[in-house]
Order: sequence, then C-alpha cells, then structure tokens
Amino acid sequence: MDIAKDRVVCFHYTLQDTDGHALENSHDGEPQVYLHGADNLLPMLENAMTGHSEGDRFTVALDAIDAYGVRRDDLIQRIATKHLRSRQRKLAPGSIAYIETREGPRPVTVLKVGRHQATVDANHPLAGRDLVFDIEITTVREATADELAHGHAHGADGHAAH
Ligand code: ZN
Repeated sequence: MDIAKDRVVCFHYTLQDTDGHALENSHDGEPQVYLHGADNLLPMLENAMTGHSEGDRFTVALDAIDAYGVRRDDLIQRIATKHLRSRQRKLAPGSIAYIETREGPRPVTVLKVGRHQATVDANHPLAGRDLVFDIEITTVREATADELAHGHAHGADGHAAH
C-alpha cells in the first residue's frame, strides 16, 4: 500500500547531522507511527514520504530551515528558577527543564544556574542543524474512523486509545 493522505504509516529511522554524528535511532525500539496528511511530521519529511510503500528505504536530507529552524539568540533567556520544572532534584547546566506555557510544557536547556535565576536556551535542541534521515517504511494501512476524527494515529494496530 502506498503512503497517502488518511493512511497510517509505521517506519524506522536513524537521524544524523551532516557531519555523520548519530542523533536518534528508532531501530532499538518500536517504529514511529503517524497519520499521513495530518501535520504530525515535519512538513518536508512528510512530503518525502508520500508515494513510498512498505519495505522502502530512502534518505531525506533537510536543511535546518526545513527541519527545526535556525537558532535564535533571543530564545536564550534568564528566568526565575521557581518557574522551571525538572525531573532532577537540582537544576544543572546541560540538563533539560520545562517552562509552563499556554501550549503546555516547553523543554529548555539549562545553561547556567544562579541562586534565584537560571539562564536557559529555549531553542529546539536540533535547531540550526542540517539533518539526514534514513527511513525504512515497515507498514502502511488505512486509518480507522477514530484516528481520522482525532487527527493522529492510535498505535501500530490502531487500537491504542488517546
Ligand atoms: Zn486519539
């Protein structure tokens, strides 16, 4: 079955930067699952998926501007530590913390920690990087009515409820 609008796609991927540094790899776990044509993937990556089918392997190279955008210096900010949530007990430089926003928690990278304030970088960790995806399509199926109504995939078999 070909990848087209309103079909659910499972795929494995590896993600590298253009220097060949490995960034992410799905092959050790479950494949990624998404509903095609519902803005659930990077738009340029979704475009490259269209028309491929089960078993296809291909490479998609994206400039930073077509992936997670360019880095913005104004997203490096000082913020009161009481507004930062962290899974660790103490905020540490290099760790990820979360700021509550109207769109939900937003991850930031902690750069420097003071007594009451911290300097954080709210750029996406992959912002400013040109990326290379190696994609392997594992399955393609029609979306269920629930998935179409929700605008996202419900797992590999369509039965996960959320
Ligand atoms: Zn749902």
